[in-house]
Amino acid sequence: MSYSFGKFFVPGPTDVRPDVLAAMAQPMIAHRGPEFEAMFARIQERLRLVFRTERPVYVSSSSATGLMEAAVRCAPAGRILALVNGGFSERFAKIADMCGRECDRYEVPAGSAHDPAELGRRLAGKKYAAITVVHSETSTGVLNDVRAMSDVAHEHGALCLIDSVSGLGGTPLEFDEWKCDYVLTGSQKALALPPGLAFAAASMEFVRTAKEATGRGVYFDIGEFDDFAAKNQTPNTPAVSLLYAADAQLQAIVAEGIEARWARHAAMQQEVVEWAGRLEHRGIAIVAKPGERSPTVSAIRLPRGTTPRGFITEVRRSGYTLGAGYGALRETTFRIGHMGDHTVATVRGCLAACEETLRSSSVRT
Ligand SMILES: *Cc1c(COP(=O)(O)O)cnc(C)c1O
Repeated sequence: MSYSFGKFFVPGPTDVRPDVLAAMAQPMIAHRGPEFEAMFARIQERLRLVFRTERPVYVSSSSATGLMEAAVRCAPAGRILALVNGGFSERFAKIADMCGRECDRYEVPAGSAHDPAELGRRLAGKKYAAITVVHSETSTGVLNDVRAMSDVAHEHGALCLIDSVSGLGGTPLEFDEWKCDYVLTGSQKALALPPGLAFAAASMEFVRTAKEATGRGVYFDIGEFDDFAAKNQTPNTPAVSLLYAADAQLQAIVAEGIEARWARHAAMQQEVVEWAGRLEHRGIAIVAKPGERSPTVSAIRLPRGTTPRGFITEVRRSGYTLGAGYGALRETTFRIGHMGDHTVATVRGCLAACEETLRSSSVRT
């Protein structure tokens, strides 16, 4: 099958380079043997550079939602305050509800970011054990200032549990310097791996409380992940083929340099912002406000009378795949995942295809 990288812009899974896909087609190895441990050690070393931490980084053979559930299950006893501003942050709140946690929501409209001062007021008014927050809200393209949220949480004695699924690897996150408690991500967003793996780092304090958490279950027990990571292993049989892909891709990420990667994502975002600015008179608008935009994903409003479904289908004819709108924004927006291994050049190609489609009248109802 011939395949050329650079035309797939769904904000998860993102486009995966052919050499990373090929890395998966290697024979099986035992996950309790020296070959696996050597590979796990390499993956660890490089994930630490991506998370900017000296802590171990756990590898879960699950989608990212699994490690969201781990965050909640292993969080210290007490109330949770969930910061909600779109589909994925709402999922975090729902997980807390469904795991039987007492959970309040600090909700702002989809398309907005949270305000650290207002968070401070809420945390001062009621005692919370932890807050949940989404770094890059993939449903709206909004970037939250998780460093500020984490600082405010700590001032009030709460831990800060961060979902950086579409953030990590594409926008700055400094696990150690920002004194993060728990950060999770998924393989299929800015890390440009196939779906099916999730990664998380946790502070020593978080691991200590995780080991005492009564409802932590088995599969998402962070204490177990921590014990096994110390032996370069995972608690259960890992998705070995996906780890082969991670081994290859993390080598490439480290070779590029994480700061260069952040800069490339900022440049891709800038390309989208300038494009949308040029087409403003035609009714194109980025959902997120300036200063609150994620470098990895944009949700974009279409001109009145243009349906996202028709637009996406039409753009597909030129070989480009866009993301549909998510949740509440499904009927009014489409999304471009300008993340992973995409470049300013591939983003330009995608935007040109979008513009061409906007010019044609066939997508108007
Ligand atoms: C994609 C995504 C998730 C869910 O990831 P799965 O791998 O589908 O479980 C969670 N949070 C954010 C911000 C995401 O972008």
